[in-house]
Amino acid sequence: MSNLVIPAPKQITIPIKGSDQEFPVRRVYCIGRNYAAHTIEMGFDPDKEPPFFFQKNTDNIDTSGEFPYPPESNDVHYELELIVALKSGGSNISEENAYDHIYGFGIGFDMTRRDLQGVCKKMGRPWEIGKAFERSAPMGTITQISEAGNMEKGNIKLSVNGVTRQDGDLDMMIWKIPEQIAHLSKYYDISAGDLIMTGTPAGVGPIIKGDKLIGTIDNLETLEIVVI
Ligand code: MN
Repeated sequence: MSNLVIPAPKQITIPIKGSDQEFPVRRVYCIGRNYAAHTIEMGFDPDKEPPFFFQKNTDNIDTSGEFPYPPESNDVHYELELIVALKSGGSNISEENAYDHIYGFGIGFDMTRRDLQGVCKKMGRPWEIGKAFERSAPMGTITQISEAGNMEKGNIKLSVNGVTRQDGDLDMMIWKIPEQIAHLSKYYDISAGDLIMTGTPAGVGPIIKGDKLIGTIDNLETLEIVVI
């Protein structure tokens, strides 16, 4: 019997390739401007920035394959990203030990209300309204690291309605996966169930209802979503 005054919020989970089990999510960390060409297209200098992170809400994750165009925006962008799923964590994790904490990898979209984010940036306000809205984190299936490998390199590509819009390589990340884990764990107690969205290559752009987005990363399960 529960003594909760309202029903407990649902545990958010992500499917795992080749398994009936699911990956339960605790937090969603997202790095900003982690590919040089994307940093430049957003108007910043990739050589002058330390890494920075923001978070999405765990219940922004959506594995339905549909992305409803969100309210209060006329400029919603896709950002295709490699997702790192952690099986353990801690604080002050060294880069050398970072891979010991990885369960697997997946594909996700960091959907962004770019117009609202732009207002936040201009006014020096937090970004959540542009980044952490309902169903803003479409995700696919996690592939375990034993099958996927370390994902230090590999093609990362997004097509919209069959036209390639983003096409990069994971080795173009400015801050590599171990550096991201080490950096995050300096500031947070990272933990099993945490996800890290590792940034997007150049080519971000707007979507409209009816668009079909296909994200692929070498060694991982393709993620397809339709904008409704
Ligand atoms: Mn992003």
